[in-house]
Amino acid sequence: MNVNLLDLKAQNAALEPELLEAFLRVLHSGHFILGAEVERFERALAEFTGAKHALGVSSGTDAILVALMALGIGPGDEVLCPSFTFFATAGCVARLGAKPVFVDSCPVCFNLDLRDAARRITPRTKAILPVHLFGQAAEMDGVLALARERGLRVVEDAAQAVGATYRGKQVGTLGDFGTISFFPTKNLGALGDAGALLTNDTALFERARTLRMHGMEPKYYHAHIGGCFRLDALQAAFLSVKLPHFKDYSADRRRNAALYTERLAKWPGVRIAQAKDCGCAHAGAAEETARLVLPAAYPHNGHTWNQYTLRVIGAGRRDALRAHLTARGIGSEIYYPLPLHEQKCFAGLGFKHGDFPVAEQLSGEVISLPIYPELPAEQIEQVCAEIGEFLKA
Ligand SMILES: *Cc1c(COP(=O)(O)O)cnc(C)c1O
Repeated sequence: MNVNLLDLKAQNAALEPELLEAFLRVLHSGHFILGAEVERFERALAEFTGAKHALGVSSGTDAILVALMALGIGPGDEVLCPSFTFFATAGCVARLGAKPVFVDSCPVCFNLDLRDAARRITPRTKAILPVHLFGQAAEMDGVLALARERGLRVVEDAAQAVGATYRGKQVGTLGDFGTISFFPTKNLGALGDAGALLTNDTALFERARTLRMHGMEPKYYHAHIGGCFRLDALQAAFLSVKLPHFKDYSADRRRNAALYTERLAKWPGVRIAQAKDCGCAHAGAAEETARLVLPAAYPHNGHTWNQYTLRVIGAGRRDALRAHLTARGIGSEIYYPLPLHEQKCFAGLGFKHGDFPVAEQLSGEVISLPIYPELPAEQIEQVCAEIGEFLKA
């Protein structure tokens, strides 16, 4: 039996009558951009996350862009962000004419290494952009303390981590802004592009709201240059149908992750990453003797498992495992094969190979397995059995 990395049809099939009703409601309303559907979803999202304000926007990428624009980031400014993340995090910084200053990652939780972040602060550093990668919160106490000490703004890229918690609070509500993606493969997926900003600061919220529509306030008067970052009524209506089910989706992802860990940890040479090795606290990768390292969820984090990401130790071993799985019809993905500081488009920033050893190491070791909520347990058993075969060979 083939095991797909994703199956977006399964989740939506279960909600088909409600999604069709939402579609017809919007169709018949004749109101397709922003408006009552978007406001309703924004209120629901604010309530769900505990943020004072939520603002629906066109994508997770645009949410980051609008947050940075609202904070006045521009040419001459530097913004700290991880090198080991999806492109959009740094791409938004660069699009505003500011410099993304990359930071190395923690080999245990895959998030920002705070010691490295502190070292890279200069008088031009204006903000820090931690990413809650794969659904687990970055060390926000440390991020916020550093930001306070050094006078930095904080934008949390929570694209992969809607609903995840850090010491009981939802991610995205701890910094000046939090940004969320509703890309269909994220934990709360729209049926197209969509995103949101969270903030507890009413003045920043108002600025972001204006920037979402060309900086216009009142109609046809522009004190600031914004853009077209609006959310469609249709996507908001679909998201309103799916948000009440988020807790179930998360529980299913957690159950899937637990099953992987339980089954895989039985194979020889496999260990679970330990919080005590966390590079957030002491930079640099520890010597690794295991063959596979399973992801850890820290006890103070509510991990939402957007990805279940293993580290396969040894030169070429990750690619060999991926080939083994692919040959047996098992889907997987490499998030991410090349750290951002080595991307061609960022060659002019002055970073080079060797600057971020953990990010570079992770790019060669990581592999993400299927973990979507509706994934049948038998298929997880099958993936684990195949990984066992690979380890024996
Ligand atoms: C998905 C993602 C984004 C961008 O979200 P889109 O909705 O696809 O624009 C930004 N940052 C991270 C870390 C992501 O995973």
